[in-house]
Amino acid sequence: MTFAHDTDISLQAAAALVNTDSSDGEELPDVAALDAFFDHYGWTGRHEHTEAELRAVRELRPRLRQLWYADEDGVAEIVNGLLRESAALPQLIRHDGQPYHLHAVPRDAPLATRMAVEAAMAFVDVVRSGELSRLRICAYPDCGNVVVDLSKNRSKRFCEAGCGNRAAVSAYRARKAAAGT
Ligand SMILES: [Zn+2]
Ligand SMILES: [Zn+2]
Repeated sequence: MTFAHDTDISLQAAAALVNTDSSDGEELPDVAALDAFFDHYGWTGRHEHTEAELRAVRELRPRLRQLWYADEDGVAEIVNGLLRESAALPQLIRHDGQPYHLHAVPRDAPLATRMAVEAAMAFVDVVRSGELSRLRICAYPDCGNVVVDLSKNRSKRFCEAGCGNRAAVSAYRARKAAAGT
């Protein structure tokens, strides 16, 4: 375990959210897609199923993406901004059979606000642990997805969208071509 359990999950969810704005197109095209994302990443609490909610979530993505590009001071500034705007107040909460974890805004706060704050709280841990090097951009050419490397040996280079497989296939083809078979 690199970070606290809820931090790991929050980082992966934040990366997945950023990556829905992908070079292959919009992966949150409608309310139904956001519903599926909400369920897949185990979100609970307020969920409006509205266009306005969808828009707010989409608008959060470029702000979160900056966290992968900023240096340490920049990350601290973004995180502090997100926490300040949302009037975050960390509380240990237990719900839905999960162990105690941090919530910093009420469960009836808008989804985009809770996503912003959850990501910000996770990045608090990353900065405090001096682990910003675990945040990368996918190494596959032109992918551009963000990556959170939670592996022990810090070896994760590709995003979750299949780039690891694509890279393995390209390497295999290149080897075959080089061998002239
Ligand atoms: Zn919770
Ligand atoms: Zn990728």
